[in-house]
Amino acid sequence: MTAEQLQEFRKLLEAARDELRASIQDQAGATSPVSPDRAIGRLTRQDAIQAQQMALEIRRRNLARLQQVEAALRRMESGGYGICTRCQEEISPARLKVRPEAHLCVHCAEHIR
Ligand SMILES: [Zn+2]
Repeated sequence: MTAEQLQEFRKLLEAARDELRASIQDQAGATSPVSPDRAIGRLTRQDAIQAQQMALEIRRRNLARLQQVEAALRRMESGGYGICTRCQEEISPARLKVRPEAHLCVHCAEHIR
C-alpha cells in the first residue's frame, strides 16, 4: 500500500469515527428509559418502547463499528493497517475503500462467516 492510499484511508476512518461519535451522542436521549406515563401526541407507550429499542439497536451497531474504526486507526499507528489479522496477507485496497475498518481479507472474512 502506498503512503497516499494510507493517508486516504486514515481520512475515511477519522471521518467515520467522528460521524459515529456524533450519532451516538445524538442518540443518548432516544435510548433513555421510557417513563410509565410517556405519551407524545399519538405515540402510545408501546410505540415509544419500540422506538427506543430500535434506537438501542442502532446505538449498539454504531458502538461496535466505532470500536472497529478505532482499532483500525491504532493498527495504522503500529504499522499493521491493511494486513489481514488472520492470514497476514494484504487486504485489497478495493475492500478497504468500502470498509476501511476491515481487519480481515475477503477470503478470511468469508471463511469465518
Ligand atoms: Zn486473510
